[in-house]
Amino acid sequence: MKFAVKSWTKGKARTGLLHVGTNQPPLETPSLLITTLKGLPLFVSPDLLSSLPHPDSSLLQFSPIHFLDGPTPRTISDIGGLHQMLGMQEYGFAAVSRDSIQCLPASDAANKVGASFDTPGGRHLVKPAEYMKIISSMKPNLWASLADEVPSWVSDKRNKMSVDRTLKWLDECISLSPTGGDVFGAVVGGSNIEERKRCAMETAKRNVSGYWIGGFGLGESMDDQPALLNAVTDNLPEEKPRLICGLGLPEEVLKGVAAGIDLFDSSYIYHLTLGGFALTFPLNSIEFNRSELKPKDMVIDRTKINLKATVYRKDTSPIVAGCCCYTCLNHTKAYINHLLNVHEMLAQILLEIHNTHHYIGFFRSIREAIKQDKFEQFHQVFVQSRREHLASITV
Ligand SMILES: [Zn+2]
Repeated sequence: MKFAVKSWTKGKARTGLLHVGTNQPPLETPSLLITTLKGLPLFVSPDLLSSLPHPDSSLLQFSPIHFLDGPTPRTISDIGGLHQMLGMQEYGFAAVSRDSIQCLPASDAANKVGASFDTPGGRHLVKPAEYMKIISSMKPNLWASLADEVPSWVSDKRNKMSVDRTLKWLDECISLSPTGGDVFGAVVGGSNIEERKRCAMETAKRNVSGYWIGGFGLGESMDDQPALLNAVTDNLPEEKPRLICGLGLPEEVLKGVAAGIDLFDSSYIYHLTLGGFALTFPLNSIEFNRSELKPKDMVIDRTKINLKATVYRKDTSPIVAGCCCYTCLNHTKAYINHLLNVHEMLAQILLEIHNTHHYIGFFRSIREAIKQDKFEQFHQVFVQSRREHLASITV
């Protein structure tokens, strides 16, 4: 793996280029990783995956935990690893222990020997040795060390314990490290600034290729996020990539980019799609500021629409006029509303294609704003427009 920072803004937002392997195209950052279930995108089959913007969708994230009830590490290893098993050699794979799809970390989900996870087959305790056995068999391009993530409301004592365990497990994972695949050191610390700093500083001392930032999206206040993010990134070396899970909303992504984060998971899109929502916000924040509100928009939050709503039953326009995704080029809101109401799975497929396409476009706009040294303005206009809209619908 190779990573190079290409441009900076006045603050810490940066663009970079990430090469995860010789078979995969380089990826411009900040970028979205496509969240998967067992290595496959949730509603987009492998043959449709190529219809998503490329190479922006070429790095897939999976949780080794999803395979605890599946083929054994020996079988996966005999097949030749995850790329071989799924027949997707041209895609990069990033392994992260957090399972954002099936279960979020709980305060009692770990003990001193390992982290435990809910799976369809019951609760599993995963020790670093077992985790590394799965990683070794799958041969991902990059992998994050096992972490003891805790919700934001745990006591300081429990939070400190989670940092101590995560650092100990990082050392154990590194000592058991397979050949190939780059390790991203896990950084936790919950909602405690000092623990965040301590974990980042200690992880930075280890021999790792990048950093995976955990413990976000677990109940922390949105107002506290910038300080927590900066406590981490201020104590990490600038030349290595930072990947985060748990920041999904557009405003949260912008906060992450402002703090110098390079890679984000896409489980937010999965949850939107599952609820029948489609992203609709203008990709350029200046347009966002100027776009006119229509009466029916007054009931939405201005970033997305709920296509289950009866107001779309006769709407023959695409989700977003001018969007060049497969869904918007071929289908109308009325058709997707119908598919949702009759519980046809095609609804989720079409929504997932549009939502992924749209969010990838958002990341492209962010990169462009950084390159033009206009990211701070882009960020401010987006947040201000949302505030004004929320204030207007409250009135
Ligand atoms: Zn579209």
